[in-house]
Amino acid sequence: MSEVRSTCPYCGVGCGVLLKADGQGGLDVRGDPDHPANYGRLCSKGSALGETVGLGERLLHPQIGGAQSDWGTALDLVAGKFGQAIARHGPDCVAFYVSGQLLNEDYYIANKLMKGFMGSANIDTNSRLCMASTVAGHKRAFGTDTVPGTYEDLEEADLIVLVGSNLAWCHPVLYQRVLAARKERGTRIVVIDPRRTASCDMAELHLPLEAGSDVALFNGLLAQIEARGVTDAAFLGNVDGAEEAFAAARQSSLEPTGLDPALVRQFYDLWLGTEKVVTVFSQGVNQSSSGSDKVNAILNCHLATGRIGKPGLGPLSVTGQPNAMGGREVGGLANMLACHLDIENAEHRTAVRDFWSAPTIPTQPGLKAVDMFNAVGAGKIKALWIIHTNPAVSMPDASAVQAAIAGCDFVVVSDITAQTDTARLADVVLPASAWAEKSGTVTNSDRTISRQRTVLATPGAARADWDILCAVGRRMGWHDAFDFETPAEIFREYAALSGVAAQFGRDFDISGFSDLDDAGFDALEPTRWPVSAARRGGRFFADGAFYHANGKAKMLPLTHRPPESRRAPRFPFVLNTGRLRDQWHTMTRTALSPRLSAHLAEPFLEIHPLDAENHGIKPNDLVSVRSPQGEGILRARITDAVTRGQVFAPMHWTGETAPSARIDTLVAAVTDPVSGQPESKASVVAVSPFKARWYGFAVSAQPLNPQAEYWARARTKSGWRMEMAGLKEVTDWEAEARALFGLPDAEVQSLVDVNRGSARIAFFEEGRIIAALFIAPEPVAVVRDYLAQLPGEEQADVLTGRPPVGRPDPGPTLCACFDVGVNTIVNAVETEGLISVDAVGSALRAGTNCGSCRPEIATILERLRHREAAE
Ligand code: SF4
Repeated sequence: MSEVRSTCPYCGVGCGVLLKADGQGGLDVRGDPDHPANYGRLCSKGSALGETVGLGERLLHPQIGGAQSDWGTALDLVAGKFGQAIARHGPDCVAFYVSGQLLNEDYYIANKLMKGFMGSANIDTNSRLCMASTVAGHKRAFGTDTVPGTYEDLEEADLIVLVGSNLAWCHPVLYQRVLAARKERGTRIVVIDPRRTASCDMAELHLPLEAGSDVALFNGLLAQIEARGVTDAAFLGNVDGAEEAFAAARQSSLEPTGLDPALVRQFYDLWLGTEKVVTVFSQGVNQSSSGSDKVNAILNCHLATGRIGKPGLGPLSVTGQPNAMGGREVGGLANMLACHLDIENAEHRTAVRDFWSAPTIPTQPGLKAVDMFNAVGAGKIKALWIIHTNPAVSMPDASAVQAAIAGCDFVVVSDITAQTDTARLADVVLPASAWAEKSGTVTNSDRTISRQRTVLATPGAARADWDILCAVGRRMGWHDAFDFETPAEIFREYAALSGVAAQFGRDFDISGFSDLDDAGFDALEPTRWPVSAARRGGRFFADGAFYHANGKAKMLPLTHRPPESRRAPRFPFVLNTGRLRDQWHTMTRTALSPRLSAHLAEPFLEIHPLDAENHGIKPNDLVSVRSPQGEGILRARITDAVTRGQVFAPMHWTGETAPSARIDTLVAAVTDPVSGQPESKASVVAVSPFKARWYGFAVSAQPLNPQAEYWARARTKSGWRMEMAGLKEVTDWEAEARALFGLPDAEVQSLVDVNRGSARIAFFEEGRIIAALFIAPEPVAVVRDYLAQLPGEEQADVLTGRPPVGRPDPGPTLCACFDVGVNTIVNAVETEGLISVDAVGSALRAGTNCGSCRPEIATILERLRHREAAE
C-alpha cells in the first residue's frame, strides 16, 4: 500500500503526516515534508501515532445500557428520546457537547442538526475550555474571529514573546521552527509564564508573573508604547478606542505582576525596540476569568503600533486541539453561527435558516460548557449527546459534572472506546470511527485547511460521526437536510454557506471550494483560507481593514482583575494545571503507547522547595491536595520551576489511569464573563503529606486490579507498571499480590519481612516473570525502568529490584522517539565528554527526530556542568 497524506490528530499545529498501513492493523508514520505546518517534522506524540491505533479497547458495536445492540435499535432510541424531550419540554431541553477532535464535516452536521433543526443553540465544544477567550478577544478587537498572521511569521520575527504558552511541550513542531529560525537570524525569545517551563531553556528572558496578572503587564507595555512614541499614528486612524485604552493603561499598576521592575523594563525595551515581534499566546492566557481581557491587552499593543498582519509581526494564538479552529469556523460554539456569522444578528440568522431550508433557528446563544453542565445537573437538560470528549474528567469541578451526567435522563456518548469516565455513565454508547479511518478536513492555528484521509478500514460496526448524526437527523424527519453520502458533499455545502457569509462581509470565505468535485476533494492540498474569487490565503489587517460595522478595529480600556479564587489560610496555594510533552488530553490515545507513557509515568504536583519544607513534604512523598471542590493524591516533585505559593499539576490522568489524580476535580468552575471559558490555572488548594501505611510498585504482563487509596498505572512494552499506596493493614501480602494480578495459582518467589512491613513477591510462568510487587513502609526504592522491562523475561534475581551487574539501567525515557533514557545520556556525557545537545544527538540519536526532548537534554548538560564546576 502506498503512503496516504493526512493530518496529525493531536494539537492545533496541524502537522501533515504520511501514513502507511503495516498490514497488521498498525501504521507506519512519518512527517509530510510538503506540509506547510511542519515540513516533515513531527513531535514525540505524532511520531508515536502508529502505536495508538490498535483495537484493544475499541468499541465495535452500539451499546444500550451496557449491552451490545445494533445500529437500527440504537439510532431509533436516540432519535426517539431527543424528539420526545423536545416535544415535551421545548428545544432548549436538549444539548450536544462536542469536541475539537471532530472534523469540519462532523462539526458542520452537528451544528446544523442542533441549531437549524432541533431548534436550540445548545451545542458547545470542548474548545470552550481551550480557545473561547481568544475568540471573544478577536471579535472585540477585529469584529470577527480572525487569526491575522501565519506560522511563517515565526521564522521572520526578530522577537517572539510566548505568553502563557509552553510551546516546547504543547506545540513542539512550532517550537522547533522557532529554534531553527533563531539559529539563522538570532531571534530572541521571551517567556511570560508563572512557571519555568521547557520553553524557557532557550529564552533571553523569563517573566514569572503572578497568575492572572497579564493585563497589568501588557497595560504597562501599552503605556510605554504611548510614552515612548512607538505608536503608529497612521494605523491608529483605523482603530477606535485608542485614547480610552491608553488612559486605562496609564492608570494601571505593575504591582499585581509581582515582577522585578528591572526584568519588566528589559522586556519592554526589547518589545519597543523590535519592529518584528510576534506575540504567541495560548492556554495560560485563555484559561482565566480575565482571559478575554488578557487577549485584548495583547491585541491593544499590536494595534497601537500597527504591528499586525505583516511578515514577521503580529499576535498569534495557538490552539490546543487539532480542529479547535475548525469548530470556531463552523459554529461549534453555542454563541456562534456557522462561517463566523452571528447568532444575535437577525439577518445572519435568516440567511442561515434559508440556506439550510431549516424550520427554525435559535434567536439566542445556547449554553456554554460550564452553564450546560450546570443545567444538566439542575435537570433542565433531558437529553445530552457527548461526542469524542470526556467531560467527567476534563471539565472544572469534574466530580460535579460526573454526577450531573449520571443523573441526566438520557445520555448518548459517541466515541472510539467505552472505557472512559464519561462513556461509563451513558445510556447509549455509539461506536465512532477513529482518526485514521476518517475522511474530511481540519483547520489548524494559522487557518490552513488540511485533509484527514482514510488509511485504515473502520473496524466492527463503527461509523463516521457525520454519518451517525445524519442518520439521527433523518430519523427525526429531516430527510433532505441530512441526505449526505460523503464528506465531500458536506464540505461543498459548508463552502457554499461561507459564500453567503461573505455577502455580509465576513472574513471566513471558502466559497472557492463550493464546486470542488469528489476528485478535487480527495486531492485537496493544505490551503490557508480565505479561498474565494476575491482572495486566497495570506495575512489579514495590514491594510487597516477590519470587520466591525465601520470597518475599523477597536482597542479596549482594560483593568487588571485578579483570579476569582483567592488564597486564604485554609487554601494557601494557587494550583496551575497544564500539559505534558508526551500526553494528550485525557490520554485515551497516548496512554496506549508505551514509549509515550515512559517519559513521565505518574501524575505529580510541582511544589517549591521552601513550601515543601514548610509543609513537611519530602522528595517522592505522596501529597494530599485539597480544594473547596475536591481532593486528590499526587506524587511530590520538589522544584524551583514553580514560585513560592504556586503548585502545578498535569491534567491528563483519569479514573482509568489514576483516580486520585483527576485534577479537574480540584478546579473551581469559575469562568470568564465574556467568553465563558473556565479558569483552569488559578484555583486555590491546600497541600499536606499523604501518610500511607504502605507503598508499592508493581509490574505485570497483564492489567492489574488495584484496591488502594492511591494508584497510577502506565503501559510498558511488556505490559503494565503501577505505583500504589494504601491505608489498609495487610497481613498476607502474597494473597494480596495474587488478587492484584489475578494469579491464584502462579509459581511464586517472595521475601516478606512482616516486622518491617516490606514484601517483594514475583510470579513466574514457565520460568518467565509475569508479575512482581514491591512493598515498603516508605516510597519504594527500586529501579523502576529496569523492572518495567522484566515481564516476559527469565530473570532469577528480580527480587533485588535492581539490575544485575553488567546490565545497564537506562533510566526514565527522555527521548521517546529513540527510547533513550536519562541515565544513558548522563553516562554518555560523563564518559564521552559530550558538551552540546547536538553532540548527544550524534552519539545516541536522542533529540534528532522530533526534537521535543532537546530542552531536557540541555537541562541535563547544564546540571552536569554546574556539578563539575562545584566539584
Ligand atoms: Fe501532532 Fe506534534 Fe504536530 Fe502537534 S506538533 S500536530 S502533536 S506532530
